[in-house]
Amino acid sequence: MRRSGRNFLRALLALLLLVIVFGAFWLGLVPQRYSPLATISLADPPTWFVDFRLAALRRDPEQCRAVLLAPHIVATPIADKVQPNGCGWTNAVRVAEVGGAQIGLEQLTCEAATALALWIEYQVQPLAVEMFGSRVAWMQDMGTYSCRNIIGNKRWMNMRSQHSLANAVDIGAFRLANGKQISITKDYKADSPEGRFLREAHMRACGYFRVAIGPQFNAAHKDHLHLDRGILTRCQ
Ligand SMILES: [Zn+2]
Repeated sequence: MRRSGRNFLRALLALLLLVIVFGAFWLGLVPQRYSPLATISLADPPTWFVDFRLAALRRDPEQCRAVLLAPHIVATPIADKVQPNGCGWTNAVRVAEVGGAQIGLEQLTCEAATALALWIEYQVQPLAVEMFGSRVAWMQDMGTYSCRNIIGNKRWMNMRSQHSLANAVDIGAFRLANGKQISITKDYKADSPEGRFLREAHMRACGYFRVAIGPQFNAAHKDHLHLDRGILTRCQ
């Protein structure tokens, strides 16, 4: 074989290896206990490889539960429930509070709960204090687990929603400690401090969730932010 041919083959193999390694981390196939990347701590906001480190918690219930500590989150592990139709959950928790804000989630994967806690504590709370001088006290849950396909997008409608795995959360509104209500339906598109708060909080969610979509994405999301830790990516 000519030298250029061998070099091409080497480059191809190196690329293939890179794709395999990237894919293994992306799919969460490298559990946290085998990962060279440090475990995420809710007490110390991560800045590097955040997405891979969140994915590493997917198949590591023990490690993930060790991450979900008060006061950053108030969460209780729940039993796995796997169904043959592509629905159900594993490594999930019940969530009562994140980043000091109340929310009542019956089931959410530990990975998504970690992302939610990081987003609220280190992005949404400082933003609320900066813009309104008050912290978020409560968030409106518009749904986590639901055994169904993706809604509102023809291209993906034959695919199971991340809600069918309890790997997604829909947020409809925020209430601050001073009583101010900020809702996606009413305020998201408004040229007001409330609108700017929601749009900025939404964009900051993209650092923790792979899909973070709202009213600008499509009509099915006009009243909530959909946040998930699936394999698709979208920030809009
Ligand atoms: Zn949703």
